Formats: sequence, C-alpha cells, structure tokens
Amino acid sequence: MLSIPNPLPNFIEKVKEIKKAAENEDLFCKSCNIFLNSAQQLKAHLQSTKHKMIELGLIDKKSDKRREIGRYKCKPCDCIMNSEVQLLHHLNSIRHQRTLEDFLQNDLAASSK
Ligand SMILES: [Zn+2]
Ligand SMILES: [Zn+2]
Repeated sequence: MLSIPNPLPNFIEKVKEIKKAAENEDLFCKSCNIFLNSAQQLKAHLQSTKHKMIELGLIDKKSDKRREIGRYKCKPCDCIMNSEVQLLHHLNSIRHQRTLEDFLQNDLAASSK
C-alpha cells in the first residue's frame, strides 16, 4: 500500500491555507471564513449577495471550506499538492527528483561557505 514518508521530508511543508493573505487579518471575512486579496475585494465582497446570504445563514458556508484539508507544499518545486496521493505522485516524478537534486546541491553549496 502506498504511503507518504513519515516524518515528512523537510522540504515538504504541510499547509492548511492556499491563500496567502493570512498576514492581513483585515482582509478576512469572518462570516464567510474567506480571505480576500485586497481592500477593494473585501469591500465588494461585503456588498455581495453571497456574503449577505451567508451572514443571514441562507447559504451554508461549509461549502467554501472543503478545500482546507490536507495540503502539502513541495518547497524546492514550489508546488502544492491537494492530497497524499498527489504528493506521492509528485515525490516519484522525475521533475521533482531533478528539482530536488538541484535544491540539495544549492543547499550544500550554501552551507559549506
Ligand atoms: Zn463575507
Ligand atoms: Zn517537488
């Protein structure tokens, strides 16, 4: 049976959120549990029908949350996998192995200075 390495290699990072606006709390809509990319987007969002319906409980906001689980980021390749299966495929791919080789060599070169 296929299984991902445990512990994960240190070039793999487990990520929860793909959106990177997390550093700016102001761009987060608590009602909808989503991040917006800019103040304008947030403003537009707050005026949107969808936001109002979610605030009123007319739409189940859970439908927006399903993409939150189990993501893995491969740092050398700078790509994100949405599942363990994808991660496994990625770890076995030639593209990844080449990128990783370069990455480790650069790492060695940097630390031997
Ligand atoms: Zn909202
Ligand atoms: Zn990779």
